Amino acid sequence: MKKNLALIIGLLVVFSFTGCSAKDTSSSKSVAVSSQKVIEDSSAKQDKPSEDKDNSTKDQASTVKDTKEAEKPKEPVKPTAPASDARTSTTVSNKSTTSNNSTKAQPAPVVTNVSGKVIVIDPGHANRSNLEKEPIAPGSSQMKIKDGGGAEGVVTKTSEQSINLKVAFKLRDLLQSRGYTVVMTKTREDQSLGNVERAEIGNKANAALVIRIHADSADTSSAKGASMLVPAAINENTKAIYAASKNYGAAILNTMVNEVGMKNRGVIESSDMTGFNWSKVPVVLVEMGFLSNVEEDKLLSSQAYQDKLAKGLADGINQVIK
Ligand SMILES: [Zn+2]
Repeated sequence: MKKNLALIIGLLVVFSFTGCSAKDTSSSKSVAVSSQKVIEDSSAKQDKPSEDKDNSTKDQASTVKDTKEAEKPKEPVKPTAPASDARTSTTVSNKSTTSNNSTKAQPAPVVTNVSGKVIVIDPGHANRSNLEKEPIAPGSSQMKIKDGGGAEGVVTKTSEQSINLKVAFKLRDLLQSRGYTVVMTKTREDQSLGNVERAEIGNKANAALVIRIHADSADTSSAKGASMLVPAAINENTKAIYAASKNYGAAILNTMVNEVGMKNRGVIESSDMTGFNWSKVPVVLVEMGFLSNVEEDKLLSSQAYQDKLAKGLADGINQVIK
């Protein structure tokens, strides 16, 4: 009898261990983090200050950061479905991607046959302003400063560049897990690049898309929501990329806004952004909400919200670049 009891207990112990180890294996398989094959921008090493936010042409670059453009939103543009390539088989790959993926994020259908497609991610601003000037467009005599500096959270005091960089990393991981090749223009807050230099990274990579990551700020705390800036057709470069940039920008913005559940301020054409005017490849700049708005400031500082933003951007990119 005692022997049997001991046997039963023994079996129970074995079973419970089996359960544990099963759990362990299942959790360990989610550690398949995407290989960090980021082509770290070689040019970023040169300690040239860069900028991000093209807008502040003025020298005391403080007040209106990203706001200028975003304050005059135009009508939202309907995304046009990317024609072509109906052959793309949209295989669902449920690889859990990053270690810090948001738990609630639902796995979206993922296009996996995008290898060879290069997405350049340009996280906005450095941790210092850069008042060096550069031509606003090829052949232009109009000079504009490289970086007026990022915005700051009205209550959290979080710096815009830190949020931009965090979302950029999350977006990079998501895109890599879906098969894209990702090039980051920078990976540290203290890297400051000019806008021409940033644009050249996209040009050299022959990027399918350059996405510039920013958060907005305004004088009025009531301003909120996301917008997408795209190049206006003003020179040879931007005429060639205007339509694609606008279509991509609209689709990506609408996807992100719908997934995150935020106000849609629409797509805005901009003719005075150096980083746009020098680009020979489709380029968009997302403003992910207002750091001058109490509610959005708090949200933008939260990791869960950053996860949602990154996923919305990745899903939007998936729709148009395939
Ligand atoms: Zn910015």
